[in-house]
Amino acid sequence: MNSLLKSLAPLAMLASAVLGAQAAEFPIKDKAITIVVPFAAGGPTDRVARDLAEAMRKPLGASTILVDNAAGAGGTIGANKVAKASADGYTILLHHIGMATQPGLYRNLPFKTLDDFEYLGMVNDVPMTLIGRPSLPANNFAELRTWLNANKGKVNLANAGLGAASHLCGLLFMNALKFDMTTVPYKGTGPAMTDLIGGQVDLMCDQTTNTSGQIESKKVKAYAVTTPNRLTTPALKDLPTLQEVGLKDFQVTIWHGLYAPKGTPPDALKKLNDALKVALKDPDFVKKQEGLGAVVVTDKRVEPAEHKKFVASEIAKWGPIIKAAGVYAD
Ligand code: ASP
Repeated sequence: MNSLLKSLAPLAMLASAVLGAQAAEFPIKDKAITIVVPFAAGGPTDRVARDLAEAMRKPLGASTILVDNAAGAGGTIGANKVAKASADGYTILLHHIGMATQPGLYRNLPFKTLDDFEYLGMVNDVPMTLIGRPSLPANNFAELRTWLNANKGKVNLANAGLGAASHLCGLLFMNALKFDMTTVPYKGTGPAMTDLIGGQVDLMCDQTTNTSGQIESKKVKAYAVTTPNRLTTPALKDLPTLQEVGLKDFQVTIWHGLYAPKGTPPDALKKLNDALKVALKDPDFVKKQEGLGAVVVTDKRVEPAEHKKFVASEIAKWGPIIKAAGVYAD
């Protein structure tokens, strides 16, 4: 037995050397990494993912980083896809505040937000804006209120499905005004924006990363921002906050973070986190984000443990608000 063990020892050493070499090799040259975006192409989450993919590719030493738009059900389909994907570091998820609102909104969420993912670090914080179709007669928030009151029962509000950031913001808005609107769900606010510009829907609350360009080129009407203070981005600096126009406690900021399936090897996690940190300091990435009103994360939430702690605190924050609103999906 002893001699058998002895004869196996070199084999064991070889196996561990090979495994070690494999771990050190992440990402294997020519093997693409995929960032799953749980919303449609052309929207704000998609835009962040594509810019981030570009900024992370070099520091990660990856030949290609692809973006896979696994859209639907307010972002839960894409999140579930990554929760169930091979835990090898080659499939990761970019998701927003929906990670924290979905546990309160979905009775049968097919994954556990805090248990089924490795947290890779946060990317940005993004304000929201309340916008309207270009043909709306209201040119400011006071006029919007008058128009809403004159159109009770007829107003519709676009969103990216139950659990989307636009859904949360719309919900807060309706609650603050005590005014019901018909919500129209899309697979992302990219396609919703097309319909808003076309006049098929009336209103939408969405990230500045999707709206600032359209506001600047006057393709949509803009009424307010959802932050406690006015923004400095040129396209948005003249917009009042919702608090200023009378919705006292209205405040919501969206954030994005990166996730890998639970069980992804520590070496791959470290390399992904290292590459994320480099990307967040990449002047091109920072400039693009700031130009769209987003703030790149520079605080401790770039660390996986802090990212997870933050998401847990957001789940605790939004859960009771969603419960009180009485909205849920099975
Ligand atoms: N902005 C969308 C949301 O409302 C998602 C997207 O299309 O990026 O969550």
